Amino acid sequence: GVRHEPTNKIVLDLERLYDDGSEELAYVARYAKAIQQQRGDYNGRVLSIRADDLRALAIVYDASPSGLIERLTEHGVLVADPRAFFAS
Ligand code: C2E
Ligand code: C2E
Ligand code: C2E
Repeated sequence: GVRHEPTNKIVLDLERLYDDGSEELAYVARYAKAIQQQRGDYNGRVLSIRADDLRALAIVYDASPSGLIERLTEHGVLVADPRAFFAS
């Protein structure tokens, strides 16, 4: 059945994001790099981002936040469960 998560943490797969190279994800990649710099978080394979930042990015893409999540999912750059990600 459908699982309803109380919080939908947005976690990016950085390797896939930076390797994607598509024009469509260029802004997301640039944004993620800026966040890494601001946090000093350079060595992670994944990056959790703020819901607020997803909203701002969605505006850049002229999409709704859920619409942007759909596109990120299509590109395979979202990590659904970071703990399962590291276990596999
Ligand atoms: P800030 O917003 O004043 O946050 C200061 C510190 O509070 C952050 O240092 C972090 O240790 C903690 N913090 C703030 N919000 C959260 C949160 O939702 N979860 C967790 N776990 N910790 C939080 P940090 O990480 O070194 O970031 C330094 C500054 O860089 C932040 O100052 C903010 O101005 C900027 N920054 C970092 N990450 C992001 C981001 O994802 N989005 C935006 N818009 N700015 C960010
Ligand atoms: P981890 O760093 O060993 O963190 C394990 C769990 O501790 C996290 O599971 C989360 O529930 C909690 N945790 C760790 N740091 C924070 C924090 O700053 N704030 C809060 N509220 N909880 C925290 P989660 O979120 O499922 O993440 C699993 C793993 O994914 C993390 O293991 C880490 O290796 C990675 N990860 C997730 N987000 C980021 C990120 O933005 N940057 C980096 N470098 N790694 C991340
Ligand atoms: P998280 O650390 O588990 O935080 C979950 C939510 O708690 C955040 O969702 C935010 O609504 C609230 N929160 C936690 N710490 C703070 C804080 O210091 N100030 C404020 N104003 N709110 C806080 P949000 O913003 O959607 O962030 C999602 C995840 O992105 C965070 O999960 C954390 O993993 C990451 N993150 C966001 N901002 C920062 C940051 O500045 N530094 C770092 N290192 N990680 C951040």
